Amino acid sequence: MAKIAVLYDAGQAVLSTFDLDEVLQRILAIARDYFHLPNVAILLLDKEAQQLRVRSQIGWDPGKDSICMGCHEGIIGASVLKKQPIYAPDVSKDPRYVCAAQSTRSELAIPLMVRDEVVGVLDCQSDRLDYFDHETIDLLTLFSTQASIALQNARLYSLERQRARQLEAINAIAQQTTAVMDLEDLLSRVCLVIQQAFQVSHVSLFLREDGDLVMRAHEGMLTPCTLPGGRLSADREPWSSILTTGGTLIEKDLNAPNSFKLFTDCASRMSIPLISFGQTLGILTLHSSQCNAFRENELQSLESVADICASSIQNAHYVERIRQLSYLDGLTGIFNRRFFELRIMEEIERARRCGTGMAVVMVDIDQFKRLNDEFGHLLGDEVLRQVSSLFHQQLRKIDVVCRYGGEEFAILLTQTNAQHALGVAEKLRKLVEGWQFPGVPRTVTLSAGVAAFPDHGTTRDELVRAADTGLYAAKQAGRNRVCLTGLVRTTSSGK
Ligand code: GH3
Ligand code: MG
Ligand code: MG
Repeated sequence: MAKIAVLYDAGQAVLSTFDLDEVLQRILAIARDYFHLPNVAILLLDKEAQQLRVRSQIGWDPGKDSICMGCHEGIIGASVLKKQPIYAPDVSKDPRYVCAAQSTRSELAIPLMVRDEVVGVLDCQSDRLDYFDHETIDLLTLFSTQASIALQNARLYSLERQRARQLEAINAIAQQTTAVMDLEDLLSRVCLVIQQAFQVSHVSLFLREDGDLVMRAHEGMLTPCTLPGGRLSADREPWSSILTTGGTLIEKDLNAPNSFKLFTDCASRMSIPLISFGQTLGILTLHSSQCNAFRENELQSLESVADICASSIQNAHYVERIRQLSYLDGLTGIFNRRFFELRIMEEIERARRCGTGMAVVMVDIDQFKRLNDEFGHLLGDEVLRQVSSLFHQQLRKIDVVCRYGGEEFAILLTQTNAQHALGVAEKLRKLVEGWQFPGVPRTVTLSAGVAAFPDHGTTRDELVRAADTGLYAAKQAGRNRVCLTGLVRTTSSGK
């Protein structure tokens, strides 16, 4: 009767909840109470690490409850090796015995089997010598099957939950990324979603740029190691192999010598290449503060995620390119008027905020109609291209040169005052005047008007109008010259 009762109770415990730790604690409590055992524990076998870890225990000495044993160590390890219960009636006489509680005199270790595989051990210890008789051993062996079932259930359940979570993540990434066309925004979202869905310590994204891998986004709890400019050499291992083979790499222990850490507290890492249309765009890296945190069974989901990311990155690249194209002038390759309109607003805002000043220069080539008439339209085009290129070379990277229309150019000089802008415009005028344009056996000249923020205007319309006035004055004064606008701002009406 007692036999049936103990098995029934254990069965009920298994069915009571999906929470593995709770089930195991209930099973151990039943074992303790029915069999009067002071020390009982369930250890799980980590096959990869070849270790037995205490998952749940009652009565073990403090500090012993977190011990990790070699998978063939102790009475417990012997039961794993033999795949059958091992009984030590007097532990002091058994050389295999490893002490978990000072009071223990006899120990019985029963392997927990799922199909033909050992997944853990139910370990029972008594403070009496030769405490376990045949009948008790048989009953505890039967009883242990309930713990195996609990483990099996919990494993299936957590696998299901993990799959569901990963599927959700793949879905979320697909949904969130297809709508995002801005690359920076896309990359940080991808890191965040992956970090949350796969519950890793940190996620980072590296994209290929000029033979390097550049960290473009990262998300998580770890501290990045300082990489110069966030760059890694793509020729360096392990990146080089990942990029060339296109295969995912799992590094189980980054504390090993010669390992290269990207985050200070990172102990293991999974690096997945981002491949789109056969092109490796970069590497998605998942980092964990635990050793050996990445499993082969997660590989498929993560590679699907990486595929989605790679296509989204490719899309964002295209959009970026198309956006750029729509701001570029087809003939000269410099920015067009649309870009000028956009940037002047931004530059005015910046000048207003930082008080650093900015200036607008409007440039118009002199007698260009005549140049076309004399040398032909094609040569006229070539002159426009060369003037654009001269301007582009002469100005700083932070300045913006645009073809405003026809033979007119608009230049935004950032962090500049009127005097300095006048000097820059004069330098450009002289350069073009002295330039020998191939096929044009005479000088080409230009006129320019200059206006500065805030002296001559504080809005786009005011500044452009003021620079135009300067240009008109230069033309009136006989061309081939630069004039500061005659308009001086007197009100702040902004019209
Ligand atoms: P001004 O000194 O007063 O500026 O005289 P201009 O002849 O330069 O001025 P106007 O505005 O009368 O003529 C501009 C000419 O520029 C007319 C047009 O044929 C020419 N043009 C405009 N766009 C292009 C282009 O893309 N290629 C070529 N080759 N010529 C162009
Ligand atoms: Mg003109
Ligand atoms: Mg002209």
